[in-house]
Amino acid sequence: MTTCDVVVIGLGPGGEALASRLAGEGLDVVAVESGLVGGECPYWGCIPSKMFIRAAGAVAETRRAAELAGAATVEPDFSVVARRIREEATDDWDDTVAAERLERSGARLLRGHGRLAGPRVVEVDLSGGGTTRVEARRGVVLNPGTRASVPPIDGLADTPFWTNHEALEASVLPATLAVVGGGPIGLELAQAFARFGSEVTVVEVGPRILGPEEPEAADVLRGAFERDGIDVREGERIVSVSHDGQQFTLELASGTLHVEQLLVAAGRTPQISDIGLDTVGLDPTARSIDVDDAMQAADGLWVVGDVAGRGAFTHVSMYQSDRAARAVLGETLPEYDASFPRVTFTDPEVGGVGLTEKQAREQGIDVRVATTDLAQSSRGFTHGPGAEGVVKLVLDAARGVLVGATVVGPTGGETVSGLAVAVRAEVPVSTLRNSVYAYPTFWRAVESALGELD
Ligand SMILES: Cc1cc2nc3c(=O)[nH]c(=O)nc-3n(C[C@H](O)[C@H](O)[C@H](O)COP(=O)(O)OP(=O)(O)OC[C@H]3O[C@@H](n4cnc5c(N)ncnc54)[C@H](O)[C@@H]3O)c2cc1C
Repeated sequence: MTTCDVVVIGLGPGGEALASRLAGEGLDVVAVESGLVGGECPYWGCIPSKMFIRAAGAVAETRRAAELAGAATVEPDFSVVARRIREEATDDWDDTVAAERLERSGARLLRGHGRLAGPRVVEVDLSGGGTTRVEARRGVVLNPGTRASVPPIDGLADTPFWTNHEALEASVLPATLAVVGGGPIGLELAQAFARFGSEVTVVEVGPRILGPEEPEAADVLRGAFERDGIDVREGERIVSVSHDGQQFTLELASGTLHVEQLLVAAGRTPQISDIGLDTVGLDPTARSIDVDDAMQAADGLWVVGDVAGRGAFTHVSMYQSDRAARAVLGETLPEYDASFPRVTFTDPEVGGVGLTEKQAREQGIDVRVATTDLAQSSRGFTHGPGAEGVVKLVLDAARGVLVGATVVGPTGGETVSGLAVAVRAEVPVSTLRNSVYAYPTFWRAVESALGELD
């Protein structure tokens, strides 16, 4: 048994930042990681997917050039994307640089699977063999993240399907691809593969793609995906999946689909069943770990990232990391910001913040909504092809403040930032109306939508 001040189990973006920070503050930190230091985001998530999406965007823009600037041709070459992901994004899925950075901060890195063995005690199955125990004087921080869920579809588990890992490690483009799941991850990758030449079918079991977001966002994306030649099937039932060594066969309620590759992007499973939660009185079978606003789940136990159940995004993990670090250091925390922005990096992008109209109504808020067509804005008009989108505002009429907003458009993820501040700071809608909006930006569509709220 060794001792330290803090043990961090799992080094996703939040855990890695917290371990370095506390070590930098002079605490004795032991950081435990079973995979790669940095977690899902830099190796199989945000960074490689956005590199792929950027490339797919270049292909799409070149194809739009004929309408805007004259003939231009592009011959998409997936090997360029695969090389950039391998060499520039992930260092061939090698975390040496991140591990050295962590150790330079003063933290001790243990490679292996960590689990609680009681309050403030962690047991690590070391990757090199053997087990060690560490006692943490101040406490333990959990950041184990999530992995792709595998839905209980007949036959699926016995097939060589892809998750986001294999999709972003791929070096060869599949000729045909079925994507199970019409959420952000599935849609982003579906569109990128399609633009490089895969024939793509998206199969969504729920009534519509991007289910938790505003229905207007799904309406815009459906049209955009159709223009990219993607077959989007919503409300579809998958009866069974099989693989004959060559291709996948999906038996759907609407018929049979044969594809070369199958990507499963049907939600995420928290990696908390085997981290000893029961040894501290917490439920290892829960969907997430309950925490207070200081990210504390129990005495001497803090939790950050996807498994805290307050949003599965890197910026949320980093925000929570900051709060947990300050809580460990005994600092007083400001009020928790629950109004974080969400972005789906499709083309057009879908940016959202706060409540959707449905969520606001369910909370009994005196709701008023306004939508405006982004393509009809001056910027949309000058932009031409690819300018489709919508701005939707959700107003709490009793308080005169926005409680939610969605921007679908070429820069939806950026444009929503201004609205995120408005929701976060509860800027009176009268102030938003009495403000100047740069002409001709997409942001001006927000001004039009505000006008519609009258
Ligand atoms: C394809 C894809 C695209 C995405 N794009 C975006 C995006 O554009 N923007 C955005 O904000 N978010 C995006 N996300 C989500 C983002 O990756 C996660 O929200 C982010 O990584 C934060 O996760 P986390 O901090 O909970 O931990 P994770 O990143 O999941 O890391 C957890 C780490 O803990 C380790 N671990 C788990 N259990 C143990 C254990 N018992 N012992 C030791 N180590 C353990 C794991 O090996 C892993 O390295 C994307 C995700 C995917 C899959």
